[in-house]
Formats: sequence, C-alpha cells, structure tokens
Amino acid sequence: MEAADSLILAIENIRGTGVRVTNSQPVFGGDINSAYKLTLSDGSVIFMKANSRQKLAIFEGEAESLNFIKQTNTVRSPEVLALGTDSDISFLLLEFILSGPASGASSEELGIGLARMHQADTAAFVKGGKFGALHDHLLGSGIQDNTPTDSWVSFFTERRLRPQFEKAHHYFDSSSRKQIDTFLKNLGEYLVEPQRPSLLHGDLWAGNYMVDREGHPWLIDPAAYVGHAEADLALTELFGGFDRTFYDAYQSAAGLDPGYRDRRDIYNLYHLVKHLNLFGTGYLYSVKSILRKYA
Ligand code: ADP
Repeated sequence: MEAADSLILAIENIRGTGVRVTNSQPVFGGDINSAYKLTLSDGSVIFMKANSRQKLAIFEGEAESLNFIKQTNTVRSPEVLALGTDSDISFLLLEFILSGPASGASSEELGIGLARMHQADTAAFVKGGKFGALHDHLLGSGIQDNTPTDSWVSFFTERRLRPQFEKAHHYFDSSSRKQIDTFLKNLGEYLVEPQRPSLLHGDLWAGNYMVDREGHPWLIDPAAYVGHAEADLALTELFGGFDRTFYDAYQSAAGLDPGYRDRRDIYNLYHLVKHLNLFGTGYLYSVKSILRKYA
C-alpha cells in the first residue's frame, strides 16, 4: 500500500472527495501509539493510530501483518484503509471495530479461528525460506528481523532470542552471560521443528484481540510472521486473559504436540526479555527463573 502524504487526502481517497473528520476522540489501551476514533462527515467512523513521522515503518509492518491475517480468511482483522504521514505525524487508518461483551461463544470462535489461521498455507507470507516474513517489522521494541530461514529453531534463536539478549546484556553479569550463550547454543535440545509452518499473530496477549457487538473475535495489533504455532499459544498463557473454552477449542481444532509445556517458557522468554528491554527490571526475575530451569 502506498503511503499517503496527507490525512485529508487519505480520507478523501477512501471515502470520497470532500469527506472530512468531524470529530476525533482518543482511544486508550495501547502502549506504543496514540489512537483515535474519527467520525467523518459521511457519518462513518474509522480508527486511527498515530506516531511520530519517523515511525511510519511501524504502520507499514502492522499493515502487512493485518493483511497477512486477512488473507488466511480465518479470524477477523480490521481492514487496512490507508497509511501515511502528515506534517510531524505518521498514521494508520483501520476499519473501526464496535466492541461488545466477550462470551463463551466468542472464546470458542477465537480458539477455532486461531487454529485455522495456524493451519493456513503460508507461501504468500515468506519468500526464500520457510520461516520469517516478506519484510522486517519495526515494533515499539525496535526492528524485528524477519529474514527467512528454513530452520525454525535457528530462526527463533538468531532472529528472536539472541537480539533481545544482546540488547539486555547490561542486566547480566559475566557468568549469566556465559550461561545465556550456552543456552542459545543448545536451544535445539529443547525446541523442535513444527510439522508445518504457521502464520503467527506474533504478539497475542489479551489486549490484542477484541470482541465486536455481534460477539465475533477480532485480532488487532499483530507483528505477524511465519513460525511455530506454539509460540503464539505460549504468549496467550504468559499474561492470562484467555479462558478454558479458548484452549479447548484450539486444541480440538489443531491439537498440541507432546512436550509443548516444556517449550512454552522458552517461547515466552523472548517476550519477557523484550519487556525487560522496553520496561526495565520488573521483568528480570521472570527471565532469570526461566533461565535457571534450562541453562
Ligand atoms: P498500540 O499499537 O499502541 O498497542 P492497539 O493497536 O493495541 O495500540 O490499539 C489501542 C486500543 O485501541 C486497543 O486496546 C483497542 O481497545 C482499540 N482498538 C484497536 N484497534 C481498533 C479498531 N480497529 N477499532 C476500534 N478500536 C480499536
């Protein structure tokens, strides 16, 4: 999608000449960008995320991720309407989701939808290797390297865990650093290649799905790439917010490989070290206790 160089033009492009923003209301809940509900003069509403002008790449990555999810035709995700820059901001315009209450049925639909997404063909999302994505993505935590590889274990080690540990090196003394090096060298003892590659949401904590007024779940704010489905599932367990119905539905639709529970904490270590880098020492204890178990 081409980046627009004005918000007015972007809105005219999607809604028609002369259509303007008549009201803008902040939406809270994200941790990286500012978000707004925009009401337009044609009566429609759209969702806008904004950041500084230099951060347009965040929205290019998010737009690519949302488009990947949409192409699987499995779980709902907001349509990407436009992205661009305007004076000192960059923006992303999305279909607005009118939120409603979650229920057992929405959890079940999310579990089944996620399982189907994980089973969808991934050929369109990565080129030149089985795991990764078409482009690197800029996240709040820095660049997420999506350079393709054919080995999941090496992808997860070299493109996910190692860069975060390198960034976090000042939190560890020299003996812990050695322990981390050995752990990264030996990850192949713990992790396994998936039976099939899966498109992952990539940041699936409870704040990154919504339920609409009809009770349907939607995936939002993805950092999508092709990987092992277990990595998505692991993160749902790290901060909570997904119920038994969701897991039962996921398992009955996709199953779980034996040994998932032993691998789960290693997948979550990536998010915990990323949080350590983003938010500070509050995450150090959890990182160290997982390392103690494996390294
Ligand atoms: P951030 O990138 O800053 O983490 P999010 O994408 O998580 O921002 O969005 C912030 C909040 O806005 C979400 O928690 C959700 O409540 C709401 N939101 C996100 N996407 C939409 C949408 N398409 N329509 C309506 N509300 C949305």
